[in-house]
Amino acid sequence: MKIIAIGRNYAAHAKELNNPIPGNPVIFLKPDTAALKDNKPFYLPEFSNDIHYEVEVVLKICKEGKHIAEKFASKYFDEIGLGIDFTARDIQADHKSKGLPWELAKAFDNSAAISNFLPKEQLGDLTQLDFKLEINGNLRQKGNTSNMLFSYEQIIAFVSQYITLKKGDLLFTGTPEGVGQVQQNDKLIGTLAGNELLNFEIK
Ligand code: MG
Repeated sequence: MKIIAIGRNYAAHAKELNNPIPGNPVIFLKPDTAALKDNKPFYLPEFSNDIHYEVEVVLKICKEGKHIAEKFASKYFDEIGLGIDFTARDIQADHKSKGLPWELAKAFDNSAAISNFLPKEQLGDLTQLDFKLEINGNLRQKGNTSNMLFSYEQIIAFVSQYITLKKGDLLFTGTPEGVGQVQQNDKLIGTLAGNELLNFEIK
């Protein structure tokens, strides 16, 4: 299983980090060792002083495909969940300034919190899904998938030109504005279309 993540897929988030709006999806990978499941706590790593949360809608790939045409792309995912793309923003900023890759900031152990998944048929119009992240009872991020710069189908078509998608792969589809730092003892609750899917603590 691999985790493919899209950066800068919501214009307001690209803007808050002073990044340009991309012409193609910006992608990066997280290894399977990044997966943090079952609402287990996230332990702040020692190598960073600035771990950020990024709540994202996550697609689960249901069959293998490469060079997938956009018009068939919706057949390649059958379940949707929520994830947190934990990011060591201090390391990312340093590496960005030096033109270095982002892996140490994005791909570290447990950097991809992943909820249980729901069948996509249960969620109604997938292009209009509300999702949000609350921390300690305060709303921190609120998104709607209608604001994605690249649709699920465009992302799948684009990525599969380069990387074969396999059953069980996960696709993080980008975060809306409002990212920020997590602190020890924070309690994160993530909701997708009214379903509370994430509920875990920072340790
Ligand atoms: Mg992200």
